[in-house]
Amino acid sequence: MKNTSEIIDFEKYMPADDLLKGRVILVTGAGDGIGRAAAMSYARHGATVVLLGRTMKKLEKLYDDILAAGWPRPSIVQMDLAKAQGEHYQALIDGLSEEFGRLDGLLHNAGILGDMTPIEHYDIATWQRVLHINLTAVFVLTRSLMPLLKASPDASVVMVSSGVGRQGRAYWGAYAVSKFGIEGLTQVLADETESRDNLRVNCLNPGATRTQMRYMARPGEDRDSLKRPEDIMGPYLFLMGPDSRGVHGQSIDCQPARG
Ligand code: NDP
Repeated sequence: MKNTSEIIDFEKYMPADDLLKGRVILVTGAGDGIGRAAAMSYARHGATVVLLGRTMKKLEKLYDDILAAGWPRPSIVQMDLAKAQGEHYQALIDGLSEEFGRLDGLLHNAGILGDMTPIEHYDIATWQRVLHINLTAVFVLTRSLMPLLKASPDASVVMVSSGVGRQGRAYWGAYAVSKFGIEGLTQVLADETESRDNLRVNCLNPGATRTQMRYMARPGEDRDSLKRPEDIMGPYLFLMGPDSRGVHGQSIDCQPARG
């Protein structure tokens, strides 16, 4: 593992306007929070974005906003990762194969917080739900889309971790454990694909960011002191575009930890 600063100085990173031109990038949990900002940024930089999420209204609003800005026409995939079964993943594979024949980027952004409570009292069904959405669905989606990623000349898989996925902290329960799993999945997959020069796999930790999830985790916090999702897009763009060729198996921080 390298420190972020050994990879690139994101304060100075200036992504080219056409950084992602011609690329097809799927973003999970695209309808809100950081996923929405990432989908907008990718489209702004020329990508055709596949907007995957569970709330159609939010996806449609994002679709309209991207079109209104004059960026490439996105696609919408309504999918609840808590409930998706084999046939839903197959329909996604078939749709992407037919429309694009490949996938150049996959941002595993969707996630839920679950309960903030001691392990001793943690609700078992909630535990299973968090692990399923935050980790198992990431595995299933990656596994399903691997042939399409391999068909790309320059594909990037980006997982989304958290500070509590590297250092466990009281009451973060299943969420923290799921993010430890994401760090592990990134390392295993990166090792397995080490010899492929057309596929890189990395992990991003957004750090404290002004979204609904952060508010649920820290309701008393001064929201104005937090970065907005749009403020942390440098690493999200870097890892999806050609500037990150050769960066593989890394876990990168978008901002310094704040506790
Ligand atoms: P939000 O809660 O704002 O957004 C989460 C997104 O995931 C929403 O679009 C939501 O859809 C979607 N989602 C949740 N469950 C499902 C599901 N079952 N199927 C499909 N989509 C689903 O969270 P953030 O934007 O804050 O978080 C984004 C990622 O960043 C997460 O992985 C989170 O763990 C990580 N992260 C965030 C930090 C922060 O401070 N915000 C810090 C560290 C990591 P819908 O809107 O329809 O509910």
